[in-house]
Amino acid sequence: MDIHHHFDLSSRNTLALAARARHYVSVSDLDSARAALQFARDRRLPITVLGAGSNVVLAGDLPGLVIHMAIRGRRVVDERAGQLELEVGAGEDWHDTVEYCLQRGWYGLENLALIPGTVGAAPVQNIGAYGVELESRLQCLTALELATGRIRHFDRAACGFGYRDSVFKREERDRWLIASVRLSLRRVPAPVLDYPALRDALGDRPAGDISPEEVARAVMALRRERLPDPEQTPNAGSFFKNPVVTEARARALGVRHPGLVTFPAPGGGVKLAAAWLIERCGWKGVQQGGAGVHERQALVLVNRGGGADALLALAGAVRASVAERFGVELEVEPRILGGQWP
Ligand SMILES: Cc1cc2nc3c(=O)[nH]c(=O)nc-3n(C[C@H](O)[C@H](O)[C@H](O)COP(=O)(O)OP(=O)(O)OC[C@H]3O[C@@H](n4cnc5c(N)ncnc54)[C@H](O)[C@@H]3O)c2cc1C
Repeated sequence: MDIHHHFDLSSRNTLALAARARHYVSVSDLDSARAALQFARDRRLPITVLGAGSNVVLAGDLPGLVIHMAIRGRRVVDERAGQLELEVGAGEDWHDTVEYCLQRGWYGLENLALIPGTVGAAPVQNIGAYGVELESRLQCLTALELATGRIRHFDRAACGFGYRDSVFKREERDRWLIASVRLSLRRVPAPVLDYPALRDALGDRPAGDISPEEVARAVMALRRERLPDPEQTPNAGSFFKNPVVTEARARALGVRHPGLVTFPAPGGGVKLAAAWLIERCGWKGVQQGGAGVHERQALVLVNRGGGADALLALAGAVRASVAERFGVELEVEPRILGGQWP
């Protein structure tokens, strides 16, 4: 086991925040994962699991052991008429997995193309984009308990998925190291074209004439147009979740704020477009103390050299002004690690 000490994490998070791990280890199989857990147990160290660092804000140094998930591998574990199940190591890159499946004629992931990060992190926040959420494609997953190393299988119901949410963010938070994920895929295309911008991008051809490859290409083009590339502009994607309110509340807000952008929320209620709320408060393109609200996408906060303090100060100011103007509380989407969030 190759344990590093005082390890610099600035290249391990897409916000490029400077923070160090007291101890750091990359695990590429179950044995090394168990050895890492034992190392932490022997020294009573807190554990932080990290994938590609695209959904975290490193607000300070991490005092314990950071386990970087690097378990690779993909294999078909079940195949039935028109359907297959693919088991994927948690350290595989998500987008590479989408491409891998498309190349083999295994469909279902195309709307989720180009989402950064690892396969193992995808269930943590039930990644979603362009009308599809992971929960509809996940069969089950396998995880190691951080405290004991015991293995547990979580079926879809046990994952308790919600909008950008799962048990791994709530009651099971900081308890599990997800080691592999089993995806349910189809051999027959069934494009999901409900998302208006995606439908527009694909023109008015009948759904049956549109291939999954075309859907993936359209999604990638939309994403490249709308979202900054973390390699050039450090960011963690959407910094806030779209708030979900009751229909009555959305109606009342719409009367007071004409043009309010809303979508039906999958689990009931109405989703308010957080980007619209932030833009209306005048934040789009604003730079403050080395952090900024992106000029094309108000939901994305960027690190312009000011580090975590500047970023969190800006996030706090955005949140306060949205609360004041609309009476709506924005919830931060990425996990804040190593620091305090008021
Ligand atoms: C430009 C950009 C665009 C994005 N677009 C989208 C989008 O469209 N939709 C969307 O849903 N998300 C989006 N995201 C957020 C991010 O890509 C996803 O949340 C992704 O799943 C995070 O993967 P990661 O490997 O980087 O996780 P990390 O940031 O490393 O970790 C995220 C959380 O998961 C935990 N975790 C990570 N791996 C494991 C594991 N193996 N076992 C247990 N816990 C683990 C971590 O402890 C942490 O709490 C975007 C991010 C960026 C930068």
